[in-house]
Amino acid sequence: MKNVKIKQCPDCGVIKPIDGYYKNGRSHHTQCKPCYNARTRARYKSMAPVRAEKKAKAPRTGFGKYPLKVRQEIVEMRTRDKKVPLRKIAEIYDINICTLKYWSKTGMIKL
Ligand SMILES: [Zn+2]
Repeated sequence: MKNVKIKQCPDCGVIKPIDGYYKNGRSHHTQCKPCYNARTRARYKSMAPVRAEKKAKAPRTGFGKYPLKVRQEIVEMRTRDKKVPLRKIAEIYDINICTLKYWSKTGMIKL
C-alpha cells in the first residue's frame, strides 16, 4: 500500500479521507482540517497576552514617541488656527519639517 487514502485524526478520532487533512509539504497534517483549525485558533488566542506585552514594549516611533501633551498641542495648533505654519511647529518642537509633512501625508496627524 503506497498511498493511504484514509487517516484517523487523533483529536476527534474520526477516520477521514486524506483530502480532509491539510497538506504539510509532501505529507498531510496529523489533525483533520476542523481540528487543525481549532488548534490554530486556540493557539492564537492563548498567545494574545504575549502579543499585547510585545506591543506595549515596542519602542514608539514617529508621532507616537512624543509625549501626549506635545501631540495634543501640535494637533490643536493646526485645528484651532490653521494659520500656524508647519515651519513654525517644526521650529518650536525641534521636529524636521519633512517629518511633519510625512506625518501629515500619512494621516498620523491631521495637519
Ligand atoms: Zn479531527
